[in-house]
Amino acid sequence: MKENLPALVARAAELCRDWRLPSVRAWKQRTGGLAIGYLPVYVPREVFHAQGALAVGLTGAGDDLEIIKGDAFYQSYICHLPRSTIELGLNGSLDCLDGIVFPATCDVIRNLSGVWRMQFPQKMSRYLDVPQNFEREMGGAFYRHELEDIAREVHERGGKQLEAETLRASIRAYNENRRLVRALFALRRNEPWKLPTAELYVVLRAGLVLPVEEHTQLLRDYRDLALLDAERRPMDQARVVLTGSFCEQPPLGLIKTLERAGCYIVDDDFVPVLRWLKGDVSEQGDPLANLVAAFLEDAIDSPVRYCGDGTKGQDLVRRVEESKAEGVLFCAPSFCDPALLDQPMAQAALDGRGIPWTSFKYAENTGQFQVIREQAGTFADSIKLWSEA
Ligand code: SF4
Repeated sequence: MKENLPALVARAAELCRDWRLPSVRAWKQRTGGLAIGYLPVYVPREVFHAQGALAVGLTGAGDDLEIIKGDAFYQSYICHLPRSTIELGLNGSLDCLDGIVFPATCDVIRNLSGVWRMQFPQKMSRYLDVPQNFEREMGGAFYRHELEDIAREVHERGGKQLEAETLRASIRAYNENRRLVRALFALRRNEPWKLPTAELYVVLRAGLVLPVEEHTQLLRDYRDLALLDAERRPMDQARVVLTGSFCEQPPLGLIKTLERAGCYIVDDDFVPVLRWLKGDVSEQGDPLANLVAAFLEDAIDSPVRYCGDGTKGQDLVRRVEESKAEGVLFCAPSFCDPALLDQPMAQAALDGRGIPWTSFKYAENTGQFQVIREQAGTFADSIKLWSEA
């Protein structure tokens, strides 16, 4: 018999809360495979999967861990994620990982890759440079070389050789996962009361530590159980898009607070690795070329990805329109350069279309939400009272 909805959500919440990675340790014991950690926001998990390795998304320690040593490695004015990652490394929580990949996201992640290499010289520590040129002959050739080089390193550490047929099978497995994620986003857009974001968030985040096949099953079960729940009825909440939370993830309590303050979050950018590639990656032909092409030509808009001059904010406006949102919450980690540098341009784009917005910041260990609750509640009330709709 399938587990019930509260039990499924509680299991997902526990998977993303326990930073000692018990599920990863159990997987390693069961399979003997490598576990390769990665920092937000995107890595080509298909490559690791095809090599028999488990890709493990790292999102710090949330609000559960006191940072003692991690602070010594960073200035006080940067975001929280790298401090907790270092703390977790030093206290042994991540010792089940055979290596970590640090994707090119921002200077903080770049520095973290160097700190990591110095602290754990025996482990694989790999900075994944990604192209900001999207021509196949230039950025594509560069990115393909990066992927081949990472695959070589994983192989040297004990992973399987990267083979076309197994990579094609891995692409198939991740395509299925992405299709379900897209379907859940569409369901939430249409009936957000059936799929509260506080639930969807943990169900998605569980995918950072589970093998993709198990996560796909979790998504399927969650969809079926949530849609069956006849108790869930629409309420008079304001429909909002939440943006800015693509790297350091907010505490679950913050999302619950926003929903209790009267917001239906109908689109967001949490856990972007699950949706970085918008459509299916082709399962025909050269699978590595297909992964590269998808990265170049079918990735979501993000502050960490170059987009043409004068186009910042346009994608956000499109998302607002598509989701029939009535406003936008800019919800970024404190001191997150990529998110906060983009924000004025995105706000200008919204202002140009008369779309209301409000903004606040968080850290993964924020514990007090009252001020945010009042701000989001006032924002939601003002939309319901004074919007033209
Ligand atoms: S939260 Fe922002 S500044 Fe911090 S590591 Fe992530 S992208 Fe970089």
